[in-house]
Amino acid sequence: MSDSYFEEGALIGVLTPEPIDRVLDYRAPDGGCWLGAFVEVPLGPRRVLGVVWGPGQGDYDLAKVRAASRVLDAAPMREELRVFLEKAGAYTLTPLSQMLRLATRAPGLSDPPSMRKIYRLGQTTPDRMTDARARVIAALVEYGGLGFTLKELADLAGVTPSVVKGLAAQGAVEEVDTPRDTPFLPLDPDLPGKPLTEDQAAAADGLRTGIRSGRYATTLLKGVTGSGKTEVYLEAVAECLRQGRQALVLLPEIALTSEFLTRVQERFGAKPAEWHSGVTMTERRRAWRMVGQGGAQLVVGARSALFLPFRDLGLIVVDEEHDTSYKQEEGALYNARDMAVLRASLTEAQVVLASATPSLETWANAEAGKYARLDLKARFGTAVLPTMRAIDMRAEDLPGQAWISPSLQSEVGKRLQAGEQSLLFLNRRGYAPVTLCRACGAQVGCDHCDARMVEHRFQKRLVCHQCGETKPLPETCPACGVTGKMAAVGPGVERIAEEAARVFPDARLAILSSDLFGSARALKAQIEEIASGETDIIIGTQLVAKGHNFPRLTLVGVIDADLGLQGSDLRAAERTFQLMRQVSGRAGRAEAPGTALLQTFQPEHPVIRAILSGDEEGFWRAEAAEREAAGMPPYGRLAGIIISAEDAAAAFDLGTRLARNDGPIRDIGGMVYGPAPAPIARVRGRHRVRLLVKAPKGAALQSAIARWISPIKLSARLRLSVDIDPQSFY
Ligand code: ADP
Ligand code: ZN
Repeated sequence: MSDSYFEEGALIGVLTPEPIDRVLDYRAPDGGCWLGAFVEVPLGPRRVLGVVWGPGQGDYDLAKVRAASRVLDAAPMREELRVFLEKAGAYTLTPLSQMLRLATRAPGLSDPPSMRKIYRLGQTTPDRMTDARARVIAALVEYGGLGFTLKELADLAGVTPSVVKGLAAQGAVEEVDTPRDTPFLPLDPDLPGKPLTEDQAAAADGLRTGIRSGRYATTLLKGVTGSGKTEVYLEAVAECLRQGRQALVLLPEIALTSEFLTRVQERFGAKPAEWHSGVTMTERRRAWRMVGQGGAQLVVGARSALFLPFRDLGLIVVDEEHDTSYKQEEGALYNARDMAVLRASLTEAQVVLASATPSLETWANAEAGKYARLDLKARFGTAVLPTMRAIDMRAEDLPGQAWISPSLQSEVGKRLQAGEQSLLFLNRRGYAPVTLCRACGAQVGCDHCDARMVEHRFQKRLVCHQCGETKPLPETCPACGVTGKMAAVGPGVERIAEEAARVFPDARLAILSSDLFGSARALKAQIEEIASGETDIIIGTQLVAKGHNFPRLTLVGVIDADLGLQGSDLRAAERTFQLMRQVSGRAGRAEAPGTALLQTFQPEHPVIRAILSGDEEGFWRAEAAEREAAGMPPYGRLAGIIISAEDAAAAFDLGTRLARNDGPIRDIGGMVYGPAPAPIARVRGRHRVRLLVKAPKGAALQSAIARWISPIKLSARLRLSVDIDPQSFY
């Protein structure tokens, strides 16, 4: 261990999250420090956070090397996490300092430990024993010597905080000051789970065996929606906890966490730690620290939870692994699914990728034997998969500016009669995608982006979906000056809701679209209201496709099944297939059978046919064959280079220069395409130019790109970012 401890004054290399792309030399602070320690170091006139990354380089004037100010109150970063940050940074071509930023997002990391009050069993008995008081005492007895915060204890006992306060006044409950961050309640993996079906039990067994091996492996857990994937992977979590290791469950959408937390509580007797944007600063700080100290056994979170300082991570579950929100599209461009596999492989952990519609990448890895695969073939219980049919829009009689076909209307009507729910799905936010002037034909665009403004009628404004800029709906055409001719063209969910209200005046409607909820809490409330049956017709965007359980939903009507098929995106077919099957999977999750109807103008399109026939393996094989023939991912590699500048010519010049000097890319058998204006050529006032690099599967793409772009000296006006394995091409 001698090389992992630095005596006071020894030369240490410190990595900071500041944008300086190198490890800086310092001297170890008073009392010395461990390798990996979080320290505060002087940097210019400031003091900044840093991590002891190794011994100092000694290549800097020794007389000028300053001492680190102090060691912070946090467990040193383990080697596993340091290596993970280095490898993830190297894979995504992200500077290490920026990677460190992802791993130090703990509020108050440099604060001294602060105190708070907790409550535990006191010495005396209360003067008067009420039911509520007895429940508080019983809860404290049940957890032995543990103490709880006021809110935790009140929740645990199902009483108001004043009951606890009353007991404390009498000394029956003791109020003590402890460091603020207390361990999370212990989870008990040996509480009885739900009895599993034969299929489920076999899958759970497979996962448990993996966990017991104590080695790294990745398993695709594929099962139709409602087949019990969650039940099954909770058994893997249980086994992991039994082994004394920590588990992480990643969910694509925070709105899903509350349902998941309830299920964890049912299964393990307490709630896990949470890590996502909806968590308070105090709880984030507590989670970050407890994960590092082993005071949190299970974390449920968003993709950034991957960078938590786990003490001994034994399992990562990536639920809905195909979901595009796992790709971070700003700053460090990483895919949390792939990084989960990387981190697990460095720490001998298991990965479970759960999905009803896996990504082609994961499907292909399972085919190739790199990942194990477990299938759940049937829905749980009496629930059956929905019947799927196309509605051929060429044969429907619809007036202009209406989108709910007579066939779909009549099916919705039947559900209303039967007291069941329907979902009308359209993956487009707002009221209308285009606002144009009927006098001159001009469309209203964003002033800063090459994008049309989308009308949002609830906000009574036009919104740019690229930059978020809004403006009032003009009365007068900004182009020709004629008044009263501005018209909305095409539908968004708000407009479908308006149509549904007209066609079904007595139905209770709810719109589920991410922009309509100010907070995660408001969204959660709406989802609970829908689940409890207080809604007849849900009108939703892809937000509804993500795993919610609406037991009374029996009909899904897809307003425009052709929508995703139009773009030139590499993944258009795959995405449409996944989305349509996910949305359809919302129907008939309980006893009543479900139906999914797809409105389409091209019912014979191969993707639409594959969706309807349910021949998933056939679809993936065909899609895989096409990608393989084209050398496209996952059978070849892609990287996007995005250059932006306020001056279009400057961005293009740099793109052209890169394209001309493509030697390093050609050396690995790769090709550079472009430069071309990005599909959205201007965002937030900056012009955007793209290059696409395509390379054979085994090629050392990252190092070639590094050799290619590192000679470029970027002027302050230009920005260049590299997107390895790009998911979106806008
Ligand atoms: P998935 O994650 O595959 O969509 P879930 O695990 O959410 O499926 O299961 C769907 C529903 O069926 C849930 O309400 C779940 O509680 C229930 N369920 C699944 N398996 C069982 C089981 N073995 N016993 C009781 N209920 C189950
Ligand atoms: Zn804009």
